[in-house]
Amino acid sequence: MPGFEWFGSEERKEVQDVLDTGVLFRYGFDAARKGHWKAKTFETTLAARLGAGHCHLCSSGTAALNIALAACGVGAGDEVILPPFTFVATMEAVITAGAVPVFAEIDETLCLDPASVEAAITERTRAVIPVHMCGAMSRIDEIRAMCDRKGLVLIEDACQAVGGTFRGKALGTFGHMGCFSFDSVKTITCGEGGAVITDDPDLYRRADAYADHGHDHMGDDRGLEAHLFLGGNFRISELNAAVGLAQLRKLDDILVRQRTYKDAIKKAMADSLDVDFREVPDEAGDSATFLSFFLPDEARARQVARELADIGVDGCFYWYDNNWHYIRQWEHLKSLKGAARLPLQLLKDCPDYSRISLPRSDDIMGRTISMLIKLSWTEAELNRRIEKILSVLK
Ligand SMILES: *Cc1c(COP(=O)(O)O)cnc(C)c1O
Repeated sequence: MPGFEWFGSEERKEVQDVLDTGVLFRYGFDAARKGHWKAKTFETTLAARLGAGHCHLCSSGTAALNIALAACGVGAGDEVILPPFTFVATMEAVITAGAVPVFAEIDETLCLDPASVEAAITERTRAVIPVHMCGAMSRIDEIRAMCDRKGLVLIEDACQAVGGTFRGKALGTFGHMGCFSFDSVKTITCGEGGAVITDDPDLYRRADAYADHGHDHMGDDRGLEAHLFLGGNFRISELNAAVGLAQLRKLDDILVRQRTYKDAIKKAMADSLDVDFREVPDEAGDSATFLSFFLPDEARARQVARELADIGVDGCFYWYDNNWHYIRQWEHLKSLKGAARLPLQLLKDCPDYSRISLPRSDDIMGRTISMLIKLSWTEAELNRRIEKILSVLK
């Protein structure tokens, strides 16, 4: 997820535009900004690139999830189904909304198993948040069909998967809203930034207002704008948006490079008796930030991860031990640390997370290794890397 690897004069030029005007705020100052609307331009460019009706650029991917939940009216007393393999932000956003995170199993796509989602639905279920992990898609068509059938809100966490598609349609456009992150290690970066997209003009209006204290953004005088409802401040600055705009123009080249390198490594590993690859429902739509694969069992996966590190194959993730991406190590959730600030109702509604059992996800994560695909490798580096990988595998 390496937008920062391709960073230079294009980003500098966009930021310089903003510095030259001194207008760092994304709204107003029409005369002083000399035609530079970096956040707005990013929004129209991303919406067009992804084939979405509307886009709102905000301060982070976490903010995007908060905004989407608020715009969709998900809150106190609602249950939200999500996967245990994600970044903690997905779970945090549900709790911030006052809703209850309910975890369903993942399958060999490393994303939500639709059957497990269906089994987790109760009369209080309000929304499902599939996460397109490590750049590739969940079984989004099945999950969407189920949400339609059950009348559930569908919010896609596509924070790691900008540019990914399923059967030609952009990830993030299947749900009522799609969320993206442009933090400093994502496919493209604003430094800090995020976005929500939607085809629904009402959801867009609510998202756009919620992210800026409820401002309706109608008319020329901010002080005279009406407040649509209670909101907050999830705004991005023009400086961050400017960086993102330069990065966004590189997205297609980034995807080509990632896919080329991922395909080369995958092809080389295909004969290994050790390895099964992650199931990707539409391989052509993988944004290819990672190549993920399974070893026969946990012991072998741990051994391979160790040996890869020992011979200098960097960027290999054994998520099962990772503190941030898999529920197993989320002690702060299990003990509801900081619970004093949670609404009493939420505390009452939450299951005992220390007793949650997800045997299928544990089994899969225990056998999984993901390799980061880097833009900056030369062909020679890629080939040396492949040789090293093959020396470790059977
Ligand atoms: C990065 C990430 C987020 C949060 O994005 P930030 O911009 O860092 O707040 C949310 N979900 C997933 C899956 C992510 O990878």
